[in-house]
Amino acid sequence: MTRYDAVIIGGGPAGLSAALKLREKGFNPLVIESGDRIGGIPFQCIHPGFGLHYLGEDLTGTEFIQRIIDKVEDQGIEYRIRSHVVKIIYSKNRYPYKMIEAISPHGFLEVEAPIIIYTAGARERTLFEIGVTGRRLSGVFTAGEAQAYMDVYGILPGSRIVIIGSGDVGLIMARRFALEGAKVEAVIEMMPWPGGLTRNIVQCLMDYDIPLLLGRMAIRLEGKRRVEGVITIRVDEDLKPIPGSEEYIECDTVVVSAGLIPNVRLLEEMGLAMDPSTRGPIVDDYLESITHHGIFIAGNSLVVNDLVDYVVEQGESAAESASILLSEGVKPRSYVRIARGRNIRFAIPQYISCERDVVLYMRVQKPEYDVRICFEEISKEFRYPVVRPGEMIRLILRKDDLTFLKGLDRLSVEVRRI
Ligand SMILES: Cc1cc2nc3c(=O)[nH]c(=O)nc-3n(C[C@H](O)[C@H](O)[C@H](O)COP(=O)(O)OP(=O)(O)OC[C@H]3O[C@@H](n4cnc5c(N)ncnc54)[C@H](O)[C@@H]3O)c2cc1C
Repeated sequence: MTRYDAVIIGGGPAGLSAALKLREKGFNPLVIESGDRIGGIPFQCIHPGFGLHYLGEDLTGTEFIQRIIDKVEDQGIEYRIRSHVVKIIYSKNRYPYKMIEAISPHGFLEVEAPIIIYTAGARERTLFEIGVTGRRLSGVFTAGEAQAYMDVYGILPGSRIVIIGSGDVGLIMARRFALEGAKVEAVIEMMPWPGGLTRNIVQCLMDYDIPLLLGRMAIRLEGKRRVEGVITIRVDEDLKPIPGSEEYIECDTVVVSAGLIPNVRLLEEMGLAMDPSTRGPIVDDYLESITHHGIFIAGNSLVVNDLVDYVVEQGESAAESASILLSEGVKPRSYVRIARGRNIRFAIPQYISCERDVVLYMRVQKPEYDVRICFEEISKEFRYPVVRPGEMIRLILRKDDLTFLKGLDRLSVEVRRI
């Protein structure tokens, strides 16, 4: 069995940036990727909007990831493509080594390492998961599938499109369809506000006169073999359907863009503690699992990010933490829990050691204007003109401020109006 310093599961932006950081620190990682190539989702994103924070440049996803891939090649980092990790064996008998099993066209791959950086991305929610009824018709795609058809294989999946969900992925796909000459009949959103970034509402819908139907949900698909239309219904404040408000939209293609869910099946099978608010693992400020030593998580497997820049930051941070563990060994830590208060949907990491500065990623439950994000026990606040569920909040808590937490077991965070 081959041994590495670290095995990275998933060769998207999180995994590749983790590999580069580990190499910079002098370690030897292996990246295992199930796809035909490394690069992850950005490879199929031919629209701009990548790298504004990280590189200070507005690149397409393909351009952005190629820059990272070039560095991986230059550094001679070892990676395996078409290799799908099926099992991670975490056993006390082999401590600190973890065994990774993968299947590939070349056969069964077994490697071991004291460190795993888990960066397997997220999966798309399906029509079934959002409760849309009807026959199993053709012409139904997830947004990622539709994007791959169009931008990797050059196939337009349909001509009259309804998009379910107004997250960034749905908005970007609406624009792609419009640019290719298809008619986007509507983007349907159940919530009273759009799910995606403001820049995407403007650049992808308004600029192309694509209707956004807020407070409306798709309930049923109509058609015989291929989809012919979608029945939608208005919902009240509690998201309950209002009888009699049904409307029929004719279309030949339905694109489901109803959110991403961290792809954490392998971690669940290992029994890692999970956070229902993110559906990803519970981690400390080293991005290490709170229950499983030596397992670090970054990117969309940790929390669904809207910007690749944060994904790369998490990949590098996880690798930096892993390199500390590899060179200094295990150190006992005590933790303070981040306690979510008013209008905070989630906060990552869920636990902090107070040993260093912490980058905190959060989302709110509902939009609010002129607010303060307040950290009660350290008397710290950050002002925002607007907070929206579709826009991740990223802020830094300084180590010096965290010293006020000595002897406490929680740090409360909430949104307050100014
Ligand atoms: C349509 C769309 C538009 C976007 N637009 C923007 C934008 O404009 N700007 C921006 O900044 N961000 C954008 N993003 C977000 C950005 O692409 C993601 O945040 C980023 O790709 C997440 O990186 P990741 O490495 O966590 O996951 P991914 O990119 O999903 O990579 C995960 C990798 O893990 C592999 N994998 C999964 N399971 C296994 C396994 N068991 N074994 C081996 N390999 C495995 C997958 O094949 C994949 O290659 C967009 C995303 C989408 C889907």
